[in-house]
Formats: sequence, C-alpha cells, structure tokens
Amino acid sequence: MVAPHPTDGRRKGETVMLAAGFERCPALVLNADFRPLSYFPLSLWSWQEAVKAVFMERVNVLSEYDRVVHSPSIEFKLPSVISLKEYVPANRRPAFTRFNVFLRDKFTCQYCGHPGCAEELPFDHVVPRSRGGRASWQNVVTACSPCNLRKGNRLPHRCGMQPRRRPDEPNSYQLQENGRSFPPNYLHESWHDFLYWDTELEIG
Ligand SMILES: [Zn+2]
Repeated sequence: MVAPHPTDGRRKGETVMLAAGFERCPALVLNADFRPLSYFPLSLWSWQEAVKAVFMERVNVLSEYDRVVHSPSIEFKLPSVISLKEYVPANRRPAFTRFNVFLRDKFTCQYCGHPGCAEELPFDHVVPRSRGGRASWQNVVTACSPCNLRKGNRLPHRCGMQPRRRPDEPNSYQLQENGRSFPPNYLHESWHDFLYWDTELEIG
C-alpha cells in the first residue's frame, strides 16, 4: 500500500511505504502535563497527524510502536504516545494518579533513593492507612518494594523512615519539568500502559 505522505515539510513527491494495518496505530495525545487532552472521547490522533506534529516539532515522542515507516530518505518508528510541547490550559490541577505521583517523585524511591520503572514501584502511604493515613498528595510517595516491605504498617518516626522530600501536590509545570528529564520511551512502554498508570487514585 502506498499512501501520500503527511504535509510535514519533507521533500515534495516523497511517499511513505506502508504495511497493512497502520491505520490501527493511533497516537495517544497528552497535554504538556502528561494527561490525555480528553478522556471521552480519548484523545487519539491518526498516525499521519502524529507524524506531522513530530516533524513540525510541536510534540515530544514518549513512546513508539515497533512499526517502522520508510520513505526514500528517512526511516522512523510510528509514535504511540506524544505530548504537546505547549500546554493547552484547561484550568485544572494535576490529577492524583499513580503516574503523576511517580512523576512528581521522578520514579525514585522516596526512602532509599533507588530509581525504578513504574512496573517495579509500589507506592507507600507515609502514615499507613491502618493508622488513619489518607490517600492524598501529602501522604502517598513512591517507594521500592524492599522499602515498602520494610516499613510495613509502621509510622515514619517509629521506623526511622522519613520521605526524602516532603510530599506535596505538584503543579503542572513541575510535572512537565520532571517529565523532560527522562528520555523518550522511558516513561511509557505503550499508551495502553499509560492509561493504566493514569488511573485516578481514590482520594480518602
Ligand atoms: Zn527504597
């Protein structure tokens, strides 16, 4: 199948050779604060729109499909998750999600400083829920499994395990800056994973 290339500034007349099924490779579009632009409907762009935005340098590529697009002069993987470079204001505070908690903490255990990927990191209630601790920005931190186990249901001063940074609610700018410090593909295996990690945590 041969499809016209998107109007992205590449040489006129170039075409992109496509394997079947590329239409099933949309990109999840995140705002500059790493939240989807919309959930209902989910903000997905066609691969053509996504590629165009990449070439126009309007977006950062956070994750890619394995599928490669070839043209005579260029070869690249289709983006699966992209984030806008310019924040589209929506008057909202960052959602209290697993992903944003990890992003605030730079995917680093707040007790021992061990870095990890999202799949490896549980999060920890500083004041355990069994002792009245709430699920909130101020009481939930990223923790590695060993620290999580070691701390158990104890209060921080009882076990000498205080978070390195006092947890607080981040603003969108802080999350954006933290996100920029990671290379593409580090944060998300795929946009399916992203949606999982972006599940809103229940505050309470
Ligand atoms: Zn740790």
